[in-house]
Amino acid sequence: MEKYLSQLNEAQLEPTLQKDGPMIIIAGAGSGKTRVLTYRIAYLMHQGVDPFNILSLTFTNKAAKEMKTRIADIVGTSEAKNLWMGTFHSVFAKILRIEADKLGFPSNFTIYDTQDSDKLIGAIIREMGLEKDVYKTKQVRSKISSYKNSLITVRAYFQNAELIEADTMAKRPRMGDIYKNYVDRCFKAGAMDFDDLLLRTNELLTRFPEVLAKYQNRFRYILVDEYQDTNHSQYLIVRALSDKFQNICVVGDDAQSIYAFRGANINNILNFQKDYDDVKVFRLEQNYRSTKNIVNAANSIIDKNKTKLEKIVWTANDDGGKIKVNRLMTDGDEGRFVASSIFEHKMNDQLKDNDFAILYRTNAQSRAMEDALRKRGIPYRIYGGLSFYQRKEIKDVLSYLRLIINPNDEEALKRIINFPSRAIGQTTVDKLVVAANGYEKSIFEVMKHIDQTEVNVNSGTRNKLKNFVTLIESFQVMNQSANAFELAEHVAKASGIIKEYNKESTPEDIQRLENIEELLNGIKDFVEGQMELVDATGNIAEFLEDVALATDLDNDKGDDDRVALMTIHLAKGLEFPYVYIVGMEEDLFPSAMSMNTRSELEEERRLFYVALTRAEKQAYLTYTLSRYRWGKLIDAEPSRFIEEIDEQYLDVMTPVNDPRQNPMLSADIFGDVEPNHIRFKKPITRKSEAKTPKFVAPKNLKPVKKTGAANANNFKTNLFDGDLAVGSIVEHSRFGKGEVLKLEGKGPDTKAEINFEHGGVKNLLLRFAKLDVL
Ligand code: ATP
Ligand code: MG
Repeated sequence: MEKYLSQLNEAQLEPTLQKDGPMIIIAGAGSGKTRVLTYRIAYLMHQGVDPFNILSLTFTNKAAKEMKTRIADIVGTSEAKNLWMGTFHSVFAKILRIEADKLGFPSNFTIYDTQDSDKLIGAIIREMGLEKDVYKTKQVRSKISSYKNSLITVRAYFQNAELIEADTMAKRPRMGDIYKNYVDRCFKAGAMDFDDLLLRTNELLTRFPEVLAKYQNRFRYILVDEYQDTNHSQYLIVRALSDKFQNICVVGDDAQSIYAFRGANINNILNFQKDYDDVKVFRLEQNYRSTKNIVNAANSIIDKNKTKLEKIVWTANDDGGKIKVNRLMTDGDEGRFVASSIFEHKMNDQLKDNDFAILYRTNAQSRAMEDALRKRGIPYRIYGGLSFYQRKEIKDVLSYLRLIINPNDEEALKRIINFPSRAIGQTTVDKLVVAANGYEKSIFEVMKHIDQTEVNVNSGTRNKLKNFVTLIESFQVMNQSANAFELAEHVAKASGIIKEYNKESTPEDIQRLENIEELLNGIKDFVEGQMELVDATGNIAEFLEDVALATDLDNDKGDDDRVALMTIHLAKGLEFPYVYIVGMEEDLFPSAMSMNTRSELEEERRLFYVALTRAEKQAYLTYTLSRYRWGKLIDAEPSRFIEEIDEQYLDVMTPVNDPRQNPMLSADIFGDVEPNHIRFKKPITRKSEAKTPKFVAPKNLKPVKKTGAANANNFKTNLFDGDLAVGSIVEHSRFGKGEVLKLEGKGPDTKAEINFEHGGVKNLLLRFAKLDVL
């Protein structure tokens, strides 16, 4: 037997060696599903299957890269290179470029990101004169997205009385017209959005049998990871491509299906056995990733879900530490706790920064974590959120580049036609849009032939439009000989963007310039990387494709030693020795938006299962007693998910000096407070128990004096000359009104203990405290 096969247990070996036919592996987290897929590909190649004939679909491009590297270790780099591997979007974008003409698209079509889609939809809603509070851009976009993912084309929409009725009932009778306009405009702009990459692939495979046959023959072996999160559109593609040879292997875990809100259909995994004949079903039960405590705790959680396939997950690993539950006063405390805990582990156990991950339900929670990590000098990296490529200055440069490749790209054009300013006003742009719609041409075409059109603009404006066309055309000429880096560098300068940000040199502008520089560095790296590949040219079109499909996770160079911060959704499939799941509070996790139905709540629970099962050695859960939500400080209650874990796997801790007895601990302005731990008898405190008596502000108080917050020079004049005494009433920008209970220390080090109406007793260092004395 090949040596690598000995790294599989018996249950894993079986599906690995099963070469042909349809098969499904349903198994819990950490049981080696991804490992089996990887080894199976290597095995197929050893059996003589040509890597050109193997298609492997993963959840992120990063996962595809890791798989490829592992396979290259086994079969050799040159062979592994020829595998088709990537996300649905990246693989089918490639195929669509080859086949685009059949669908009436240029092969250099632009891929619109969600920002582009939002802008276009917003513009359409405006142009149609619709109420923007009724037709909310993002809602409309997500509606259109769900139509597309269910393969409801514009035509199908208008034939579907039920859909029309539903939208009319929702007071959006023009939904279909917006949808039609949006699709037409994308088509005219030579652009596809993310959903189109799947929808158009389906169109290609159904309308052109010869194309279907071509790819069926090419992809004789198809493997899909994380199958539980495929949507209908993806399902149909896989179905169509695998129909001829039926060599299809999918792996997944119904307990980790967490993308229903984006159209993922758990029935795909549940019905797989009905879709193909003689499906072999495999199960893996041994978890290799996590300690017994983590595995058992995760099992006890998922047990609470009614809709699930029964599975066994066990591990031969050590018991490990129990799951630590920590209660903190505020999100600031939570951040500091996590940072010091990471620091402690690093010191005591000789660990690296990338042994740690902090997972949260919403992106906004990262801020408090970042602040604390920064103070501790712990390097970190945030995944998700606003990605680098969505920053304004980066999108500006990219829009020029997009326009060079595809001058019909309407969103790119509208973004930069007057940036930097060329005195082409919105009215002119509106006229161009109207004309473009009328002539059924792109805006760029209209501009190019402005003298032959009836667009009503004066000669000065006409010239400005022509100059813009000439500028873009000059870039296009350069693109024929220059590589991506040379072109991008030239564009950044010749467009005037660099000059624009050099004008005032505000800190923001400098930051923007640095980002542009970083973009250019990235393009340079890209060009150098591409040069090594046989069929790549290193031109800008290739770079743009890479960028359009990159998720934040994909840009991870992998070599940087940093604490990872990301949402739980993004963490699927990954693993880390130490995992902190923060913000374990009702309304946050489970999310307030997902508690209306049992199925929504069950999806939240699966999300928690995913979070917990990322941990190899130790998991921490933290929650706070008060948190800013929607701009208000509110009391928080511990998440029901904590209580759902079987108590024997938990270690419930809280700082020795409970904040209610020693408010010093929760002072926002202090550095790090080392949390000593004691065990609480009763594991979880509910809201009622945790309440601090609230300060109620006396009525009719008028503001008297500002303290000159955070200004070290102000303390002498304002604060310490007797303005503040025990009993003084103050106001704080975040905590509201409060009464001074105690003053301690002298001069710049004076501390005040204050009972606030929001957030209770706090200990503030007056030097920094943002207080008004009332
Ligand atoms: P998830 O559901 O989270 O995607 P998974 O089922 O895909 O998990 P893998 O990521 O493939 O699980 O494996 C989990 C961990 O266990 C990995 O670190 C993997 O290398 C290791 N592992 C899997 N099988 C074995 C084995 N037979 N021997 C040793 N380690 C293994
Ligand atoms: Mg996996």
